[in-house]
Amino acid sequence: MAYRWPAGTVFKRIDLDVADRACPVCERCMHVCDHRSHPLWTLAGPTQVVNRLGRCPEPSCESRGHTFSPEAALSISMPRGCLGWDVVCWRGQRRFSRHGSVPQLRLELQDTHQIRVSDDAIEHSMGQYQTMLAARQQAPAQLAEAYRAIASLVLTIDGRQPEKGHETLSVVRELMGKWVWCAEPLWSSATQEGRRVIVVARQWAER
Ligand SMILES: [Zn+2]
Repeated sequence: MAYRWPAGTVFKRIDLDVADRACPVCERCMHVCDHRSHPLWTLAGPTQVVNRLGRCPEPSCESRGHTFSPEAALSISMPRGCLGWDVVCWRGQRRFSRHGSVPQLRLELQDTHQIRVSDDAIEHSMGQYQTMLAARQQAPAQLAEAYRAIASLVLTIDGRQPEKGHETLSVVRELMGKWVWCAEPLWSSATQEGRRVIVVARQWAER
């Protein structure tokens, strides 16, 4: 998502290197061949993540031409995202545990953390949060353990009515155990696609 930073923004800088400097093919020590800067918001304020990219110096190495990026970048944010995971999770928690509206969250981010983002950016990160949550909770053993003492299930499917051409996330939630079970991006709420989500939910219930 493109984000326009105000002129004069002061960034906190984080430098990242490839964790293992040995070339994964020939084990020679890789050189830093380039830098890739990634500005983003974290709860600590505007942050510039500077990724030092590695490349094997050996011309005959099979990894020739391949550039290696620091793995740690993904623990800070999604690639090219304008928000760090800390902001995404903060918002998701505020939205779904405390039921804050999008405009409320925008103001709270602005007043408490000096983070200025649009309602659209907030909505976008909600989708990311729900996807992450669903992925984490799709661990069958963990889910089975959580439902050991629950005899009946109440499933809901929430999703905003998709506008034409826009993908929407449908989230299946179970109300007795209060877990998000799965999330599916749908191109329309038409019966065919909706049924796919119901089939998945039924499989989970049986399991
Ligand atoms: Zn090599």
